[in-house]
Amino acid sequence: MPQLPPPLLSSLQSVTGYDEESFIEVHESGEQVTSIRINPYKIESPQQLKFQTAGKIPWSSCGYYLPERPSFTTDPLFHGGAYYVQEASSMFLEEVVKQTCAITKALKVLDLCAAPGGKSTLLQSLISPGSLLVSNEVIKTRVNILSENITKWGAANVIVTNNDPKDFQKLKGYFDVIVADAPCSGSGLFRKDPDAIHEWSIDNVQLCSQRQQRILADVLPALKQGGVLIYSTCSYSAEEDEQICDWLLSVTDQHIVPLTLQLNHPGIVETISAKHKAPGYRFYPDKIKGEGFFIAAFRKESADDSPTSRQVKNKVQLPSKDELAVILPLIKNADRFSLCKWMNDIIAMPENVAEDLLILQSSMYIKKAGVKTGTVVRNELIPDHEFALSELTTAIIPSIELDEASALQYLRRADFGLGTTGKGWTLVKFRQVTLGWIKILPNRVNNYYPKDWRILNK
Ligand code: SAM
Repeated sequence: MPQLPPPLLSSLQSVTGYDEESFIEVHESGEQVTSIRINPYKIESPQQLKFQTAGKIPWSSCGYYLPERPSFTTDPLFHGGAYYVQEASSMFLEEVVKQTCAITKALKVLDLCAAPGGKSTLLQSLISPGSLLVSNEVIKTRVNILSENITKWGAANVIVTNNDPKDFQKLKGYFDVIVADAPCSGSGLFRKDPDAIHEWSIDNVQLCSQRQQRILADVLPALKQGGVLIYSTCSYSAEEDEQICDWLLSVTDQHIVPLTLQLNHPGIVETISAKHKAPGYRFYPDKIKGEGFFIAAFRKESADDSPTSRQVKNKVQLPSKDELAVILPLIKNADRFSLCKWMNDIIAMPENVAEDLLILQSSMYIKKAGVKTGTVVRNELIPDHEFALSELTTAIIPSIELDEASALQYLRRADFGLGTTGKGWTLVKFRQVTLGWIKILPNRVNNYYPKDWRILNK
C-alpha cells in the first residue's frame, strides 16, 4: 500500500471523527471488505446463493458481508442479476431514503450520476412498483455498463438516460427525489484501490468541489418544491462534503434534513457543517466495516421552479391487435403494464409511468426504457434478453434448470450438452434465477446469450 498523501492527512486533522492513528493503521492493514446486496425480485434468501455470507450489513435490508471475495465471474447468479456487488457504506443510502422520502407513494426519482448502477439498483429495490427511477449517466462510455446492470436487475420502472445535469432543467419541478452521488477525488476508496492514491492532489479536490457545485446548481431546478436532494461522495475532504452542504444552503433554497442514527449503526459519525450547521454522515473504515463515504439530505423549499406545462409532442406507437395477442399471454400481470412500440420492439412499462417516457423522450437522450420484450414476427415473439432477465415472464414460457457447469457453458455461449427435448423459445435458469434464452430446434439448440456479455475465461 503506497503512503497516504500527507496533504490529505493534514487536511483531515480538524474533521469530526478523524483519528489519524487508526485511520492509517486500517489502510496499512490491507484488510479487504467484500459485500453484496441481493435482488429481492430474484432471491428469496441468501441460502439460494452459491457462497456463504458473513452477516448482515446493519443499515441495509438486503446487504451482506462475505467472508472472502469469491469469483463473481464464474457465478451464474451474478450474471442473472441475483445480487449486486456493492461497497457496504454506500448502502446507507437506503436508510437516508427511508427516513426522508414517502417510499410507499408513487415517486419520481432521479439518480443523476448513476454508472455503474450501485445506487440505482438500490433505489429501484426501495421505491414502490408504481414509482419511476430515471437513472442517468453523462459519460457516454459508462452508459452501457449502467444499462447492462439495470437490465440484469430486471425491473420495468426504470428509464436510463445519457444527459448532462443541466439538460434536466427542461424538467422543472419534476422529481420528488434527486440523488447526486457526485464524481469526487475518491479518497474513501484508497483501501480498495491503492493505485488511486497516486492520482490524488489538493488541486483535484478543488476541481471536484467546483464540479460538484456546478452539478447541483444545474440539476436543482428539476426538483419539486418539498422534494428531497440526497448528496453523497466517497471523499473524506471537507471541501467536497460539509463545505458543499454549506454552499448549497448559502446559494440555493434548501432546508437541512437531519437523520436519526439507530443504535445498531455504531461507528457512523454525524458531522455538522461550519456555517449552516448542516448534519452530514461520515463513514470511516477504522470505525465501521466499509469504505469511506459521506452522505447528507436536504429538502427544497422554494416553488420558484414551477413545473412548465409539458406538451407531449410524441405519440405512443401501440402494438397491433395481432402483436398483443402474441405478447400479452407471456407477460405476468399484463394488465398492470403499458405496451408500446419502439422501432420494431415492444416495450413494457408500468401503466402509470408510461407517460413519463413520452415526456422524457421529448427532452432527454434515452438509452433504455422499461423492459424490451422483443419483436413479433409471423405471430411469434422473438424475445429480447431484457425480457428473460425481467420480472415479467409468465410461467407458461418453457424453462429448463441447468447445473452449475452447464450454466457456465451457457454463459460462455458454448455447447452445454443439452438434448433437444422441448421445443422453441425456452428460458435457461440456475437455482431458479433466469440467465437468458435458448431456442430448441428439432436437431439442435441455439444459444441466445448476448455475445457482448459472454464470459470469456475458460
Ligand atoms: N452512483 C454510482 C454507483 O453507485 O454505482 C457511482 C457514481 S460515481 C461516484 C460518479 C459518476 O458521475 C460517474 O459515473 C461519472 O461518470 C459521473 N460524472 C462525471 N462527471 C460528471 C458530471 N460533470 N456531471 C454528472 N456526472 C458526472
